Amino acid sequence: IERENRAGRRRNQLVVLAGPTAVGKGTVSTYIRENYPDVLLSVSATTRAPRPGEVDGVNYYFVDDAEFDRMIENDELLEHATVHNAYRYGTPRGPIEAALEQGRSVLLEIDLQGARQVRESMPEARLIFLLPPTWDELVRRLIGRGTEEAAEQQRRLETAKVELAAQDEFDYRVVNHTVAEAAREVVDLMKVRAAPSRP
Ligand code: 5GP
Repeated sequence: IERENRAGRRRNQLVVLAGPTAVGKGTVSTYIRENYPDVLLSVSATTRAPRPGEVDGVNYYFVDDAEFDRMIENDELLEHATVHNAYRYGTPRGPIEAALEQGRSVLLEIDLQGARQVRESMPEARLIFLLPPTWDELVRRLIGRGTEEAAEQQRRLETAKVELAAQDEFDYRVVNHTVAEAAREVVDLMKVRAAPSRP
């Protein structure tokens, strides 16, 4: 019974936050990391280069292709995907299992392909889809942050359309009107789902 209870608690504490490019997943996740210390925000590995201000081990583990291959071979990644047809991203398995074992909630900020893989391998995970208030607002945010060139922006908007079409696959939808409100909703969903399995 003890084991069942532990597993039951664990079940509802893995939460995936996905959503289209530039919707603000990164901002909401960072806000949660800074304001809700009980939640572990998973740090992904990626083969893309750091953007100005990004710190290795905090925003991502920045690795080369050979290292990424090695992680896959050693089964160190819970899921992995090539995003926007460019770089590879993956979720390290170890820190997540350790945190869940300690009864902490874990948040994964990953893309749609990754969310689907997690749903397959960990069906107990809760999937949240973050939506922009409107499509125009999404376009405005993507262009406004100015981190991508025009061609890359176009490519990401194409991906965003595909991703928006998949929102019904998710357990919950949260509209990102403001970062603080969206973060609060995500954290509330984590708590709501965790409660029923407590003995
Ligand atoms: P960015 O390069 O803008 O930081 O992230 C690009 C995309 O990669 C975002 O949609 C983000 O959610 C996704 N991403 C980040 N980490 C992971 C991961 O570990 N796995 C998967 N599948 N996608 C990720």
